[in-house]
Amino acid sequence: MSTIDFINLLKEVQKFQSDPKVIASMNKLLDKVTQDTSKATLQEIYNILNEAPKPDQLKLLSAEALKYAETRSGTLIQGIDETTSERFRELFASALEEGMSAQQFADSLNESGIFDEDRALLIARTETAFAHNEAALLSYQNSEGVVVGKEWLVANDACEICLSIDPSSIPLDAMFQSENGDEYLSPPAHPNCRCTTTATLDIPFEAKSESVELQKAETYKPTEAMAEEAKRALKWKAEGRAGGTRVGLARANQLAKRENLSESTVKRMFSFFSRHEVDKRGKGFSPDEEGYPSKGRVAWALWGGDAGYSWSRRIVESIKEKG
Ligand SMILES: [Zn+2]
Ligand SMILES: [Zn+2]
Repeated sequence: MSTIDFINLLKEVQKFQSDPKVIASMNKLLDKVTQDTSKATLQEIYNILNEAPKPDQLKLLSAEALKYAETRSGTLIQGIDETTSERFRELFASALEEGMSAQQFADSLNESGIFDEDRALLIARTETAFAHNEAALLSYQNSEGVVVGKEWLVANDACEICLSIDPSSIPLDAMFQSENGDEYLSPPAHPNCRCTTTATLDIPFEAKSESVELQKAETYKPTEAMAEEAKRALKWKAEGRAGGTRVGLARANQLAKRENLSESTVKRMFSFFSRHEVDKRGKGFSPDEEGYPSKGRVAWALWGGDAGYSWSRRIVESIKEKG
């Protein structure tokens, strides 16, 4: 390989490494993902309480999301730089040793995949997963104590590493442990890992508001049919089916245990079913249709399905009559 060839190659590497456009677009992407996800997650958490996050909380969350995106895209580019230059140096050293021609060296660079599209895609995918999960954690931390822990939700295509991680609820600042002793603040555990987290809510908090209601009104025990439906939904979620929200998941867990529900929870259930009845018209809602269970079907089941709909309607109507 001639000196000129080598200088040209180096120029290519440097161009890639210090391109401000690469840094800026990565920053923009991460900021958007982090902002959107953290806000949506915090709102979902507050939906459970039938409240809305305070403007101050959202402002703080937004500032923290921006800070994450900026720091992360900075270190990420550095990370690419180091790995790339290191790989490049290695390849160049062996090219010299083996007396390769420029063409042979270019081929080996191609084979190494340091600049190829797949690698760029993998980085983008992994970074988006990092941003999603970081955003969820940020919203938990900004929930003013509503969220007290996090659980690891294993993806349906999870590998041995992810399956070996203890998924049970731990405090927000604690680390998830894998069997071989590796620790993770949150998913992803590795590139291409599609695992996520879910929030553990402060149960005493919910119990408190429920017990206040208990004094002024009745509670309602979900039926066996609703519990069955919720268990079916939880099984679908464990299999990695799409559909439903974290709120839906929390609801299904209550229904599966046939926990007594307060009047306001029953009202929220009825309002969910009324809003989502149109999803029944979507493809994959019935077992005989392609794409079963559709996202809408999974969400419907999380809230107790048809049995939950008629049950919550009956209660809401009788409350209206009484009151
Ligand atoms: Zn994995
Ligand atoms: Zn994973």
